Amino acid sequence: MKYSDYAQWTNRVTRWIEQHFATLRDKPVRAQTEIGAIAARLPAHPPEQAVDMETIMADFERIVPDGITHWQHPRFFAYFPSNAAPASMIAEQLTNAIASQCMLWQTSPAATEIEQVMIDWLRQAMDLPEGFKGVIQDSASSATLSAILTMRERATGFTGNDKGLSGQGRLRIYCSAQVHSSIDKACWVAGIGQDNLVKIPTNDAFEMDPTALQDAITADRAAGHIPAGLVLCTGGTSIGACDDLPPLIAIAKAEDLYTHLDAAWAGSAMICPEFRDVWRGAEDCDSIVFNPHKWLGANFDCSIQFLKDANIQRRTMGLRPSYLETPQAQEITNFNEWTVPLGRRFRALKLWFLIRAYGLEGLRSRIRNHVAWTKELESKLRARPDFTITTDSRLALFTFQYTPKGGDPNAASAELLQRINDDGRIYLTQTLHQGQYVIRFTAGQFDCTRDDVMTAYDVITELAA
Ligand SMILES: *Cc1c(COP(=O)(O)O)cnc(C)c1O
Repeated sequence: MKYSDYAQWTNRVTRWIEQHFATLRDKPVRAQTEIGAIAARLPAHPPEQAVDMETIMADFERIVPDGITHWQHPRFFAYFPSNAAPASMIAEQLTNAIASQCMLWQTSPAATEIEQVMIDWLRQAMDLPEGFKGVIQDSASSATLSAILTMRERATGFTGNDKGLSGQGRLRIYCSAQVHSSIDKACWVAGIGQDNLVKIPTNDAFEMDPTALQDAITADRAAGHIPAGLVLCTGGTSIGACDDLPPLIAIAKAEDLYTHLDAAWAGSAMICPEFRDVWRGAEDCDSIVFNPHKWLGANFDCSIQFLKDANIQRRTMGLRPSYLETPQAQEITNFNEWTVPLGRRFRALKLWFLIRAYGLEGLRSRIRNHVAWTKELESKLRARPDFTITTDSRLALFTFQYTPKGGDPNAASAELLQRINDDGRIYLTQTLHQGQYVIRFTAGQFDCTRDDVMTAYDVITELAA
């Protein structure tokens, strides 16, 4: 295939996409394929000779759609959403064609400068104070790793990168048990170790207990350990837990700990002023991550890391070998110095298209609807004797159990969930909460309607019966 054939094939692909969206509501949300079935349809060996695009496209249509779980299905209520608003898809198509490496200002000035402006637009949209800068990363996991590495370097007087960690004493990071596993993984990768990630107990509202945090830090100092950082959460993955930030940040400041807030999912809702009470105090964090690719509408990958003082993270990761040196390095931003990977995609373009094509009001109204419809579904299920709401909705997420008379709620819920996902009209997933198997519900697909959410009620109750 040649560049001159590009238009022909994008036109063909565009027609496929149009058909795909037109029929998406009729398809099962979760792929209904058997393990290994897709791989079995591919030849075991790579072709020595070129295959014509006609055959490649035909094989795509024959093989791939069956093996897709449809994250863009309006009745995808599992995990958290991973959106692809049409305007963002168009921007990604342009990004694909331009295919710049946006590691240095010089290697893509437009990408760097649009990224800076988009970070500032989002800062304003979420009402964070001026002075917060930021960077677009591929995932919240990468942003959190960056923050943990920054905690490590800051706590070792910026000697970890040079000397390694042996002989440095035990660095300690604190979080609650409600945080995402990406915090654990960041501690593994940063050389801090799982044993030095201290999980602080939570109160009845699943917020980290400030007294327990203070006690843990005090005990660690007495033992000669080095408290390095505090990771907070707004909208934990399991049940949407939100730490009460002010008392925890006050302790971190008094103890000179660097703070990172994981709001990967819930952060998008912070463009709505009425929801901001869940992260009251966020403006005092050193680092905040949220994923516009989850709930805001941007395509994966698009994770924003806001930084109160970007210099600390740049000092942690700003390696500058001679082959990357550029003129005027003092005045310009070279974003590779803010992140672990060197190469970077032009991710800001999809934010620019997204925010303009819908406006903040358009984006807010979707999130508000998701929250309102989720609460409506929650109260309908709550009214039934055979269902129990196990955790109340936080923004657009609640959990429930199927609790038929005389049955074991864990087994009944697991069986119901399997039936629901085999049925395919909706897609839900589970979590283990306080030892109980509970079903999560979260609405957030860009095109989701009230009807879609109410269909979930019909499917859940029909299949339970
Ligand atoms: C989804 C999620 C993550 C991980 O996000 P990635 O971008 O996939 O790394 C981390 N924390 C929370 C709270 C999440 O919801």
